[in-house]
Amino acid sequence: MTLELQQIRHTYPDGDRTLVALDSVDFRAAAGEFVTLTGPSGSGKSTLLAVAGGLASPESGRVLIDGTDLTELTARQRDALRAQRIGFVFQQSNLLGSLNAVDQLRLAAHVAGLPLRRAGARARDLLDRVGLSAKAERRPHQLSGGERQRVGIARALMGEPALLLVDEPTSALDHERGAAVVRLLRDLTHEAGLATVMVTHDLQYLDLADRSVRMADGRLFSEPSARTGR
Ligand code: ADP
Ligand code: MG
Repeated sequence: MTLELQQIRHTYPDGDRTLVALDSVDFRAAAGEFVTLTGPSGSGKSTLLAVAGGLASPESGRVLIDGTDLTELTARQRDALRAQRIGFVFQQSNLLGSLNAVDQLRLAAHVAGLPLRRAGARARDLLDRVGLSAKAERRPHQLSGGERQRVGIARALMGEPALLLVDEPTSALDHERGAAVVRLLRDLTHEAGLATVMVTHDLQYLDLADRSVRMADGRLFSEPSARTGR
């Protein structure tokens, strides 16, 4: 799958003025590509993910997912495409306190409308893949921050997305656990041929990216220091 943003502009009302959160943004991420997005707080990173995932509609511009323009779909079509093709991982893992890890994933499958029959086996496969098979029956308060984030990643993959949008997954983690989560995301991206966009303010993770882009004041710049390709 390929994600392509073309000339995106997105604004928020700001008193009697308008705040331009995304300004003429062009961006592309291809299957199997792990792209990091950095930039100061307030530069528009989370807004870019929201627009890319169809959670927010841009004021102008095109959001193409394998050539389908999200902005031209009805809300219902957009929701369906999101459920089938897009996974999200947020800063907080947003797990439900009462459910153990495997049930968090089974619930996600249910919400996404996937057949429950296969969901249990797939949930266990994914927990194994993120290194948590021994902790599948644990509830969030019985897991560390890094482990909770791994459950969140496994949950995002339950629907077999082609595009993974990740917003500051390491901000609550120490360096070692943060780096392990980023390496996991990179490896899953390459293995499953995902297109992954990860927002981070931590420059140490750029080395792990196939490509890095940077935002400032709603504009996107490519990062010349990042290695290209892999
Ligand atoms: P980042 O993720 O890089 O910190 P955001 O995309 O969250 O940046 O925000 C970009 C700009 O848009 C900021 O100035 C922020 O205050 C503003 N903003 C974000 N969300 C909203 C909103 N829902 N309403 C109004 N302004 C917003
Ligand atoms: Mg943000």
